[in-house]
Amino acid sequence: MQEHQPGPSTLCVHGGETTDPQGGIHTPLYNHSTFAFPSTRALLDVVEGRVEGNLYTRYGLNPTIKAAERKLALLEGGEAALVFSSGMAAEAAAFLACCKSGDHIVCIGDVYGGTFELLESQLPGLGIETTFLLGSEIGRLAEVMTERTRIVFFETPTNPNMEVIDIAAVAQVAKAHGALTVVDNTFASPVNQSPLALGADLVIHSTTKYLGGHSDLTGGVVIGPRALIDPIWPWRKNLGQMMAPEVAFLLLRSVRTLTVRVRQQNANAQAVAEFLSTHPKIKRVNYPGLPDFAGHDVARRQMHGFGGMISFVFDGDADATAAVVDRLKLFSIAASLGGVEGLVTQPITTTHHGMTPEERRRRGIDDGLVRISCGLEDAEDLIADLQQALG
Ligand SMILES: *Cc1c(COP(=O)(O)O)cnc(C)c1O
Repeated sequence: MQEHQPGPSTLCVHGGETTDPQGGIHTPLYNHSTFAFPSTRALLDVVEGRVEGNLYTRYGLNPTIKAAERKLALLEGGEAALVFSSGMAAEAAAFLACCKSGDHIVCIGDVYGGTFELLESQLPGLGIETTFLLGSEIGRLAEVMTERTRIVFFETPTNPNMEVIDIAAVAQVAKAHGALTVVDNTFASPVNQSPLALGADLVIHSTTKYLGGHSDLTGGVVIGPRALIDPIWPWRKNLGQMMAPEVAFLLLRSVRTLTVRVRQQNANAQAVAEFLSTHPKIKRVNYPGLPDFAGHDVARRQMHGFGGMISFVFDGDADATAAVVDRLKLFSIAASLGGVEGLVTQPITTTHHGMTPEERRRRGIDDGLVRISCGLEDAEDLIADLQQALG
């Protein structure tokens, strides 16, 4: 008989936890920077890798941090995970571990502003160049890859147009050319999408968003097979990008309720998206859960839920759109996402503020575009708030 496999909610609650010697019900917070040994022999056993033990927190050899890593690895179906001080720290370490001078990255679709800046302005200084493809140019992937292409990187759904990229299809092309597929799964969360199961090699999250879920921690994680995770470890160690144990403890606390939160956010977003798509002052709603949305079919195939993020185009100029945003009461104007509270942002004022009007047009970033992150409020209240703000 096949062994019973626990589901995602069970993994959220129980996965990766350690037993507390004092009998505490969850993994305790070990905020110590260092751990003591009974003898030099015992210390050397850990330093030389013969025994798994705790040593020094910046190395990640700390029980609270290791518990967070085990839980996140289990949730994404990966062999190993490394947590970081932020999502950007996780991405930077992954790129630096996988690429050296002369290597090449392909980035598909819209990506987080910090990721774009790292790939476009900073990594070229180290001899690592990136080719950017729009989501609509995905057919050119094989053509832009070279024998120095190490990584094909993307987010799905993308920010802010919620474009859905076919993970399995991209991974197949990347693999055929000897490159790794690296997916930023922050928007979907592990509840709604499992990139490793679809052929991706590494998954990255900003744990600041859905995994933290309460807008009160900053962190990141990289998950994948041990053979790919191990080379990232010395980069984290020597760039000093460790997640603080207090944050790992908060993250463990948050992830125990992840499935409950995300499923409620999925349901709220579906209801809000359906309301918005019938509103006369809205030109377009971007949400993978709407049957007439371009990415709906791929999303149905590769996602377990459509997520809590929506964007829509208001029928008005930048100022009229800002006035709608300003009239919202339940949705706070903020750049982040994935928290228990509804958040709203006009991408031209935040994530895409630095972009030229031509580049925004090319990427379909309209002046009337608004992005919302649905919280855990009652869907009727979120809808009522949008209704009054739209006038
Ligand atoms: C926020 C975010 C990041 C960066 O994460 P930080 O924790 O702020 O460093 C990367 N990717 C996506 C999709 C994000 O939303």
